[in-house]
Amino acid sequence: MSNRELIVLGTSSAVPTRSRNHNGYFLRWDDQGVLFDPGEGTQRQMRLAGVSAHDITWMCVTHFHGDHCLGLPGIIQRIARDGVPHEVGAVYPASGEDYWLRLRHATAFADTSVITPHPVQGAVATLPLPGLTLTARPLSHPVDAYGYRLDEPSGRRMIPSELSRYGISGAQVGRLHREGRLGEVTLDQVSEPRVGQSMAFIMDTRMCDNVHALAEGVDLLVIESTFLSSEAAVAREYGHLTAAQAGQVAAAAGVRKLVLTHFSERYVHDDERRFGEEAAKAYSGDIVVARDLMRVPVPKRRR
Ligand SMILES: [Zn+2]
Repeated sequence: MSNRELIVLGTSSAVPTRSRNHNGYFLRWDDQGVLFDPGEGTQRQMRLAGVSAHDITWMCVTHFHGDHCLGLPGIIQRIARDGVPHEVGAVYPASGEDYWLRLRHATAFADTSVITPHPVQGAVATLPLPGLTLTARPLSHPVDAYGYRLDEPSGRRMIPSELSRYGISGAQVGRLHREGRLGEVTLDQVSEPRVGQSMAFIMDTRMCDNVHALAEGVDLLVIESTFLSSEAAVAREYGHLTAAQAGQVAAAAGVRKLVLTHFSERYVHDDERRFGEEAAKAYSGDIVVARDLMRVPVPKRRR
């Protein structure tokens, strides 16, 4: 059984509200745990959501505005305090190295050696994660910002009834998978194609080509929709998207589930419905207007 879900830790943009913490998202993907854009208070939100420092294997920061990274010092110091033994990769825009170093060493603490920086730069950067490929592409925001995409490679899924028909079991299954055949039986005879799953995380950007490139065909799209259409001019000026634009991206890219988040503090609780409605004008799929501590499963694998 795969265990793949997004745990929403915070959903506000620059200013938290009574019901929304600053940004923060934890993606559980089998034995990997990717923490995206930890804003202030993320450590406590993790506590409330039942996510521990030991669960984190990667941290990805889209850009160095405070609502996307001021939680890093607390998370890093917690990783150190809890003695997390495994490597934790940290991905962030290379041009923000100074900010990274300040946040990495923000205060006095007994440091850890497990955190490995992976600054990204250029038109596209890829990194291998266990069982996944991470792709970073630059977005359009007043400071350098990168969106991220995770792709599981396609593979093949064994068909139990076919395996038993040929009398293949135990260690033979693994051998057939690795070597492509076992005696007269080929892998194709006892398996079927398995489409890899994918997700994209797109924060703080105007509409640009890379928004579409990152979102193309993903199962789960987590995307900022800071504003409603009534504030479209403000959105453009400050480098943000509206809910309607997020819906247009999801429709054009053919995504399977759309998660809207990073809401301006100007909106009150009753506005929440309007974000979903604006996105639904273009996108007919599954829309989630994120709330803090919500859990969103990655849609079941395409067959
Ligand atoms: Zn932001």
